[in-house]
Amino acid sequence: MPLEIVLPIVVVLFIARVVVARSKGRPAFGKVVVRCRQGHLFKTSWSPLGSLTAIRFGPVRYQYCPVGHHWSLVRRVNDADLTEDERRSVE
Ligand SMILES: [Zn+2]
Repeated sequence: MPLEIVLPIVVVLFIARVVVARSKGRPAFGKVVVRCRQGHLFKTSWSPLGSLTAIRFGPVRYQYCPVGHHWSLVRRVNDADLTEDERRSVE
């Protein structure tokens, strides 16, 4: 396919993804709550375009946990899955 057709499609899909993420109450860009393998909760920046500070494997990635001071696989946590205490602890 020629680029002048592909490029607008990619842009539209990207915008749609951002809008969908927003409508679900999740920021498409910026900070999200993640949980490391040892159960620590913390906020980290989660860009859909990837990150220079972490290695990503889909919804899971490998990065430094500032709570336990160790490297770990971390998984994104939905805000709805957090308890009140957990939410307060990461604010
Ligand atoms: Zn940890």
